[in-house]
Formats: sequence, structure tokens, C-alpha cells
Amino acid sequence: MTHFDDLLAGYARFRTHGWQEQRTRWEELAVGQSPKVMIIACSDSRSEPADIFDTHPGEIFVVRNVAALVPPFETTPGRHGVSAALEFAVQFLKVEEIVVMGHGMCGGCHAALHRTMDGAEPGRGGFIADWIAVLDEASAGVRAEFPDYANREAGRAMELAGVKVSLANLRTFPCIQELEQRGRLRLRGAFFAINEGILYVLDEESGEFAPA
Ligand SMILES: [Zn+2]
Repeated sequence: MTHFDDLLAGYARFRTHGWQEQRTRWEELAVGQSPKVMIIACSDSRSEPADIFDTHPGEIFVVRNVAALVPPFETTPGRHGVSAALEFAVQFLKVEEIVVMGHGMCGGCHAALHRTMDGAEPGRGGFIADWIAVLDEASAGVRAEFPDYANREAGRAMELAGVKVSLANLRTFPCIQELEQRGRLRLRGAFFAINEGILYVLDEESGEFAPA
């Protein structure tokens, strides 16, 4: 049995249950999607939005990447995957909320905090280094706040700071700024603590995360 065989066994269960039991929903979804929420989450296998929020197919539009990051609005040449997804979600699907969800024990945030990929070649950590450089300022801040930053407290501070960086970067997109000001789009920050199985939600006024 390969891992893909395991996946195919899962697919067989999906065909019998998920798909069969929700035939009507899938018939509607075959015509189009109209998710109201976009979620930006980490690629980490433990940070699965559909599981954590118990959503149905068609309900959430998801982008996952290393450390759940949104880079700032940039028009430099390059393949701006997150920006393309954001543009599609906001301008075409017209989602009403965007949730940035960080998570505990995040490898990307750990690498940002400890600069473990610095100087690596592309293909050997260099792409990660370049990507998580989005967190440079925030990680410097966490290292300043926690001089002995090789502990969970600092790790968590980095993960929470990452959510705030992505929210701030979302607001560098003119279309997002405008829609938020017009009350058409709401931004949310959240953090899933893997060890507790608890979702924390950011109160942007206080800057604090509290259990949902
Ligand atoms: Zn992660």
C-alpha cells in the first residue's frame, strides 16, 4: 500500500458518503461557487481549515502556504500566487470576510524566528528563506522582546505576530483597503493552537488573541 492508495481509499469513502449524501449540494456546486469567506492558512498538515471550521464544500475559498502569509501589495515581476487568489476572491467571488489563520508549532514561523534558512540556495531552503522574509521585521521584534527566544513563549509570539503581519499586508492592497472602508469586507485574525485544539480570535483593538 502506498500513501496514494490510502488517499484512494479515502476517495472511495467520500464517494459513498460525502458525495452521495450531498448530491444536491454537488449539483449546485457544479454550476458555480459562491463562498462568502476566504481563509488564508498554513500548508501545515495540522492546520486544515475545512476540519477546524467544519465547513462544507463550496463554503470557504482557501489559500494555504508556508506560515499563512500574505506578502505586501507588489507589482514587481513575479508569480504572485497569493495576490492572484486574493484578487479572485475579492473582485470576482466578492467574499465578505477574509480570515488569516496562523497555527501553533508553525515550521515557517520557527524558521523566521531562528533564521534557519538564511543564505540557503533555492531548492535547499532558499525559497523558504525568501518567502518568510515577509516576517523579518516581526521576527526581529520578537527576538528583541524575548532575548532567549528558543522557547515556546517566543515561538507563539512569532506565530501570533505573523497573523498581524498578514492582516497589515492585506491592507496594503488598494482594493481590500477600499472594500474594508466601505464596510463590504471584514478582515479577521485567528490562531489555531494545535496542542490545545483551541482557536484563538484576534481582537484588533486590543491586539490580543482570545479563545473563540
Ligand atoms: Zn505553519
